[in-house]
Amino acid sequence: MNTPLRLFYSPFIVVLLFLAFSTQAQFHHREFPQHNCSHYCAKARLDFPSIGIYEQDVRVHDYDVKFYGLDLEVHPGTTFIHGSVQVVSEIVTPGTQYLVLELWAAHTVSQVVMGGEDLSFQHENDVLEIDLGAMKPQGTMIDLQVFYSGEPSPEGFFSGIQTATNSFGDPVLWTLSEPHNARQWFPVKQVLNDKADSVHVFITTPPGFIAASNGLLQQVTHLPDQRLRYEWKSRYPIAYYLISMAVGNYQEFSFMAPLDTENDSVLVQNFIYNYPEVLQSQRENLERTSPMMQLLSELWGTYPFSGEKYGHAQAPMGGAMEHQTMSTMGHFGFDITAHELAHHWFGNNVTCATWSDIWINEGFASYAEYLSREFIIGPESARDWMQHAHNNVKSQPDGSVYVPPMFLEDIWRIFNGRLSYRKGAAILHQLRFELNNDPLFFSIMEEFQDIYADGVASGDDFRNTVDLMTGQSWEWFFDQWYYGEGFPTYEILWWQRDGKLHIRSAQTTSANHPLFFAGALEFKIIFADDNEQVVRFFQEENLQEYVVTIQKEVKELVFDPRQYMLKNYSVWDSTNISFPDTPAITISPNPFTRKITIDYPNLWHNGTWMLSDLNGRVLMEENLNDTTHEQDLGHISSGIYIVTIFSPGGDKKSFKVVKY
Ligand SMILES: [Zn+2]
Ligand SMILES: [Zn+2]
Repeated sequence: MNTPLRLFYSPFIVVLLFLAFSTQAQFHHREFPQHNCSHYCAKARLDFPSIGIYEQDVRVHDYDVKFYGLDLEVHPGTTFIHGSVQVVSEIVTPGTQYLVLELWAAHTVSQVVMGGEDLSFQHENDVLEIDLGAMKPQGTMIDLQVFYSGEPSPEGFFSGIQTATNSFGDPVLWTLSEPHNARQWFPVKQVLNDKADSVHVFITTPPGFIAASNGLLQQVTHLPDQRLRYEWKSRYPIAYYLISMAVGNYQEFSFMAPLDTENDSVLVQNFIYNYPEVLQSQRENLERTSPMMQLLSELWGTYPFSGEKYGHAQAPMGGAMEHQTMSTMGHFGFDITAHELAHHWFGNNVTCATWSDIWINEGFASYAEYLSREFIIGPESARDWMQHAHNNVKSQPDGSVYVPPMFLEDIWRIFNGRLSYRKGAAILHQLRFELNNDPLFFSIMEEFQDIYADGVASGDDFRNTVDLMTGQSWEWFFDQWYYGEGFPTYEILWWQRDGKLHIRSAQTTSANHPLFFAGALEFKIIFADDNEQVVRFFQEENLQEYVVTIQKEVKELVFDPRQYMLKNYSVWDSTNISFPDTPAITISPNPFTRKITIDYPNLWHNGTWMLSDLNGRVLMEENLNDTTHEQDLGHISSGIYIVTIFSPGGDKKSFKVVKY
């Protein structure tokens, strides 16, 4: 999913807006548009869902969903829907008598039928509890059909179903069920690891509309009053939140896109607003799906739904959503098109195991924006993308890619653009840098797709795949980058002496966990004769010095020349620092009674200072980390002492100080 830009975030404001809306709605008499169905006014209700945390009835785990068969009639311009949903499932908890589905409380359920018999049911608090009439043994197949109707109220971007007019004034109806609002439009079990084996989405529309959905459009049936039933069927496993519809005044623009193997291709079926200028302006954008399809198939393995299709359905929404084989799109920009397509590997074929693991969906799909730029547009465009991502991540000092369970109540934390998307992409780039082996990096992603295909996976599952494919433990990497917060800041000093290049890396971190990021460092050495050499080191502790034997004169040292690392940094050439050129170091006051302050210039950063007596006995020795250092010397006796400052390059300067 690509969420719209959010300029502010305050739960308080969100609640206030919602209350204002509810209050207004209570006093606003609504008139329903004319339509065919006599039950409409009797059944439609104006209830609003309660504000609160998403809680799930644990009894949804008593069965395993096999199939959803949606057969719904819609009226774009309103969210009113009515019809039936067939749910086929298998009992997994022995003795289950009540089959519990999730369905928005304000829908009216008129009937639940199994084998031609009516079942009794209760529908309260978004829970539809169906009495199966007797306790069912494990393994029993349950095939029932729920008849219902209702008009869900909009709840912003994360509404399960919503309608709006596009820029041409035409109504468009679309669904967006992630993370748990499928229940707003159909009876469902909202558990990520229970994918339905297949799904039918039959949508009946008024004349002039096309309904786009999952899988293949098998048939369009003409019904009385010029209504049309679009009959979509998919035979691929599907997570509940990827079942979708988008209904509008569409035209179809379709083509075949190449896959990874020669002569093989897949249908890309696009439903865009039915105006010539829309096709004219979007055609080029839409056709870029082809190189993206080929690229991602080559990098990650063949498009997982190649037996059916890929598609786009246009909707007047702020972002886009990767509905399986039919992404719903607010626009067709390069990045968003790559992102939603990429979700078909990461998100749809392999789905995050819990919402804490949203990285598997959003981090990987965001990284596909980078990869698509890298391989389709060019490395410069890709570096530009990553630069923006890094800057955004570093705009705040903390936050992890992993979403701790305590934050899951906040949908905007799950879909936090800075952490789940951009830092999620940045840490994949960081992993690629650590591996320093692109074929291995991409084969890890492909293997991960193979292992967890049609299922779910956590961040730990991805780590296990990295471990498996490299024969090493990457726990340290995931601890600091996936579970950990913030990013490192490097202060790099280098100097050349006696045929050796010294590189000293001092690292601090932006947050408290971790206090150190282990990892590779890469430098490009540029010589005075303009030749270059790249060297790599592994930093294992906060302060480390590396020595390279180099005879030629070094002109410049470039840190992280390929811009892989998420970091802040500075590089200091301290080769030419010697006493005559040394900017002033001052110690004040002198004489002193209790405290001294050592002021020293930048280039002495990460040096050390030492206090000794006149006999040369060392009393204190400490690192210098800032441009000024204050030291309490209240504990030493009166007398004369020597303060010596050592630069990282090994130069030193001594001062005589007097304590009264
Ligand atoms: Zn996404
Ligand atoms: Zn109707």
